[in-house]
Amino acid sequence: MNIILLGPPGAGKGTQAQHLVDDRNMIQLSTGDMLRAAKDSGTEMGKVVADVMARGDLVTDEIVIGLIREKLEGDKQGGFIFDGFPRTLAQADALGQLLDEMGESLDHVIELQVNDDVLVDRIVNRAKEAVAAGGTARADDNAESLKVRLMAYYKQTSPLIGYYYAKGQLQGVDGLGQIAEVRAEIAGVLG
Ligand code: ADP
Repeated sequence: MNIILLGPPGAGKGTQAQHLVDDRNMIQLSTGDMLRAAKDSGTEMGKVVADVMARGDLVTDEIVIGLIREKLEGDKQGGFIFDGFPRTLAQADALGQLLDEMGESLDHVIELQVNDDVLVDRIVNRAKEAVAAGGTARADDNAESLKVRLMAYYKQTSPLIGYYYAKGQLQGVDGLGQIAEVRAEIAGVLG
């Protein structure tokens, strides 16, 4: 089973993806994690994307599609969870094509629905908690980048809701509940 978790920054995609990894032996493909890893390892691509990410803008479709393509060639275990990908219509088309070529299906597109005030609070708290735990906040978890990330979501990613709705694949889940409640609701959708 292959699924997409769709939703704005702070909706809880990463948290729920981790549960699906634990519960169903699925593989989480988070383009955000992949890009942060590239940045930390200091590769040429990492250097190119670092500023874009810190600002909160989207990196190019070409880069993220390339990252995803590589991962799809590996072991698929209980299936793939696309977390933070696709984020543009071009990425969505590319994903459809890649899955077709592999003879794989896209089984569910789950939209985690939350309101914007909650997103801002969650992200500001995530940054504070990281610092309180002695670590560092993500370079893009600040008020300035958050505005850009939200705008990128509404301008570039939210059209995917209509796209997958029109394909008959969209399923909405209330992302405002407790983590365990959201987890249970997703489990219900996936069956
Ligand atoms: P969040 O969902 O909290 O915004 P992510 O970890 O998914 O965080 O992404 C962090 C940043 O990585 C994004 O703001 C963007 O710069 C970049 N990024 C992640 N996935 C994509 C993608 N599919 N296309 C373009 N840029 C991406």
